[in-house]
Amino acid sequence: MKKPHLLFCLLMIFSANLIHAQEKTETSSDSQKVSNGVFVAAKKIKDSLYYLTYRTNNVVAFLGRDYTVLIDGFDAKAAPQALTVAGRLSLNPVRFLVNTHHHKDHTGGNAYYSDSGVTILCNELTYNNIWADTNAELIQDLKKQRGELAEAMKSAGKNERGKELGAKLNKLSEQNLDMALDYPSMTFLDQFKMNLGNETVTFHQVLKAHSGSDLFAYFENNNVLATGDLFFNGKYPFIDEDFKGSIDGYLEGVKKLISYCNNDTVIVPGHGPIASKSDLESYKRMLEYTQKGVQMDYLLGKTLEEVIANKSITANFDAQGFGNGYVKTQDYVSMLYRAAEKRYPRRK
Ligand SMILES: [Zn+2]
Ligand SMILES: [Zn+2]
Repeated sequence: MKKPHLLFCLLMIFSANLIHAQEKTETSSDSQKVSNGVFVAAKKIKDSLYYLTYRTNNVVAFLGRDYTVLIDGFDAKAAPQALTVAGRLSLNPVRFLVNTHHHKDHTGGNAYYSDSGVTILCNELTYNNIWADTNAELIQDLKKQRGELAEAMKSAGKNERGKELGAKLNKLSEQNLDMALDYPSMTFLDQFKMNLGNETVTFHQVLKAHSGSDLFAYFENNNVLATGDLFFNGKYPFIDEDFKGSIDGYLEGVKKLISYCNNDTVIVPGHGPIASKSDLESYKRMLEYTQKGVQMDYLLGKTLEEVIANKSITANFDAQGFGNGYVKTQDYVSMLYRAAEKRYPRRK
C-alpha cells in the first residue's frame, strides 16, 4: 500500500504547487503576455469550492468526491486554460459544466469542453437561446426572405404569379432549421439538483431577468451562491432586451438570490469580486433607486436626453465606479427609460 500512498502524496504536492504557481503568477504583470492575453486564476472559497477568474468573469468549480463540476466556462479563448486550471485543482476529472445562460462569455467555450469529454448541462430555454444566438444570421436571412416573398405575393394578387409565390412562401415557412447545436448537451426544464455525496447543489431558473432565462446555483452545505449574471458586483447590470431580459425581472431575481442568503453566505457573481449578503442588498437598493429615479423623470415628461443629463440619479453610484463596466451609465439609464416607456406608454 506504500507506493500508491506515496504517489498520491507526490501528486497532491505537484498539484498544490501548480495551484500555488497559478496564484502567484496572478500578481505578475508578465502573466498576460505569456498567455496571449488569457489569464485564468483559481481562488479558493472553501475546501471543495474554488472560483476561476478571467477578466471580470467568474466560473465556479466544485471539487466533488468523484469529479469536478463547473458552473459556466468562459469564452472560447479562455476555455482551454480554464479547463487546465480547473483540472489541476483535484485528482478527479472535470466531468460536468452547467451553463447559467446563453451569453458567449459564459458558453463560448462549450464546444471545447465537450470535445474534452465534459458533459454540458443547461436548461431548455438557454439551449434554445444558444442556438438562436449562434444562428442569428441565418434566422435573420430567413425572416428577410419570408418578408420579401409575402410582399411580392401581395402585389402579385391572386393570379398565377401570386400562387407561385405563395407556394414558395409556404415551403420556406415550413422549412425547419436544424435545431441541434454542434456539440451535445443535456437539458432540463427549470429546476435541477445535483447530489454530489458531500454536497447538494440546486439550480434555479429566473425568467426575463438578465437574458430571458438565467440560472443561479446554491451549494447547501458550503453555503455558497453562484449567481451567474443576475449580479454584476459593483457595476450596472446588462439586461439583454433582445432575449426578453427586463429590469423588473432582474430585480425579482436579485430578491430571490437574497432569500437564499444569510450573513455567512459567500456569493460568487457572474462578474466582479465575490460578495456577501449585504453587498447584494446594496445592489438591490441601487437597482430600485435608479429605476424609480428614471421612472419619475419619465412620468414628469422628460425626454431620454433630459433624463441622461440629470446626473443626480446615478451620481452616487457613478462615483463608486458603477458606470465604468461593460454597461456605461448612459446605456443603463436608456434601458431604464425604455422600461418606463413600456410600463407607462404615453398617449400619442
Ligand atoms: Zn450574460
Ligand atoms: Zn457575463
